[in-house]
Amino acid sequence: MAAVKALAMARGVRLGSYSIGRNRSLIFNSVQRRGIAACIDPSIGLTDEQKEFQKVAFDFAANEMAPHMAEWDLKEIFPLEAMRKAAQLGFGGIYVNPDVGGSGLSRLDTSIIFEALSTGCVSTTAYISIHNMCAWMIDTFGNNEQREKFCPDLCSMRKFASYCLTEPGSGSDAASLLTSARLQGDHYILNGSKAFISGGGDTDVYVVMCRTGGKGPKGISCLVLEKGTPGLSFGKKEKKVGWNSQPTRAVIFEDCAVPVTNRLGAEGEGFTIAMKGLNGGRINIASCSLGAAHASVLLARDHMCVRKQFGETLSNSQFLQFKLAEMATKLVASRLLVRQAAVALQEGRPDAVSLCSMAKLFVTDECFSICNQSLQIHGGYGYLKDYAVQQYVRDIRVHQILEGTNEVMRMIIARSLLTES
Ligand SMILES: Cc1cc2nc3c(=O)[nH]c(=O)nc-3n(C[C@H](O)[C@H](O)[C@H](O)COP(=O)(O)OP(=O)(O)OC[C@H]3O[C@@H](n4cnc5c(N)ncnc54)[C@H](O)[C@@H]3O)c2cc1C
Repeated sequence: MAAVKALAMARGVRLGSYSIGRNRSLIFNSVQRRGIAACIDPSIGLTDEQKEFQKVAFDFAANEMAPHMAEWDLKEIFPLEAMRKAAQLGFGGIYVNPDVGGSGLSRLDTSIIFEALSTGCVSTTAYISIHNMCAWMIDTFGNNEQREKFCPDLCSMRKFASYCLTEPGSGSDAASLLTSARLQGDHYILNGSKAFISGGGDTDVYVVMCRTGGKGPKGISCLVLEKGTPGLSFGKKEKKVGWNSQPTRAVIFEDCAVPVTNRLGAEGEGFTIAMKGLNGGRINIASCSLGAAHASVLLARDHMCVRKQFGETLSNSQFLQFKLAEMATKLVASRLLVRQAAVALQEGRPDAVSLCSMAKLFVTDECFSICNQSLQIHGGYGYLKDYAVQQYVRDIRVHQILEGTNEVMRMIIARSLLTES
């Protein structure tokens, strides 16, 4: 039903046509013109409905994102209007309930969409995925008043959201966070700072994990803070290796008064809410890596078919054929794991948390290796900014670090193996 809504909305949106530069054209038209071998086709095994919204997402990526992805990266443009167009297709609140403006799709559907979108721009899609996670947290843990207040504007992307967990002194050990919220009448007085916040400074709604009680995870609550609140300020925009189409800033709270009515869930439930958000976030970010890897396999294949050395195309080198075959195999294995984890999370299965961690660990590592190998196959050209492959490499490198580092993923998986019976 919701997918039908997305498709109906898609028909109402004019997908613009752009004059694409020499290399963009070479890169992205080749992906579309040459077709995709069945063995790596991301639509294989999907329902007709899933294939339809996957196509909508691929078309949006090709027409509305890919032509701009290099410029957004170079000029560090946060493409608000492009994202609002994506929201018109239902991509602002993909797994948010329809009664507050969401598309009501499943985690698997969401993964399919983020994989397709990220072929057009990983960085922008990754921000959209964080925004979706925040909207889902409010939809799931908020009361009706909170859901109605925040979710419709987030799903339409009239407003944008940020997820605020990390602090300068607490990264992997997130439960040691120090930002404090002291109850005073019908408000919390928030003090502290958050580091590395995606969208920070340019977004409107901040989902903040803060300490209302004692040490450890049980002392943490989750507050929703709106831009414009006195005492809320931002650090300088960070200069990053990738993810340049979205700003990253510190978020600073100095005696910010946040209404108690903006607390999601009960006091002390904030860490659980944050981790539940991240389970889906990990599938989403892995899906963004998949899209980059998918595009990079096709770019490598196309380059091998046209580049000649030693009197023949690179595609005649068995060494490179084997590399391409390995890349394709890693891609498909990664996709299978992401989709398996998405289904487990959707069904609330007991293996869901571990599978989400496994997917994040395996897929972000393997997809980085695929993109990096594709760059290698491009030789010196792969190192030029005229070629998209270097941007996929730069953009997905951080997926091994954020939403829980891949070392933290190993901790979660090992804990499950050693403590569950
Ligand atoms: C571009 C970008 C965007 C981000 N966006 C957000 C955001 O929107 N919201 C948000 O809350 N956070 C965000 N983050 C923060 C991100 O989640 C953290 O950087 C990440 O959790 C790691 O924390 P840290 O950087 O403090 O590293 P640390 O925790 O200091 O870890 C350093 C290294 O040591 C390893 N390590 C630490 N402890 C152990 C151990 N016990 N055993 C083995 N290895 C260990 C880590 O895995 C890592 O490799 C973002 C980060 C970046 C770079």
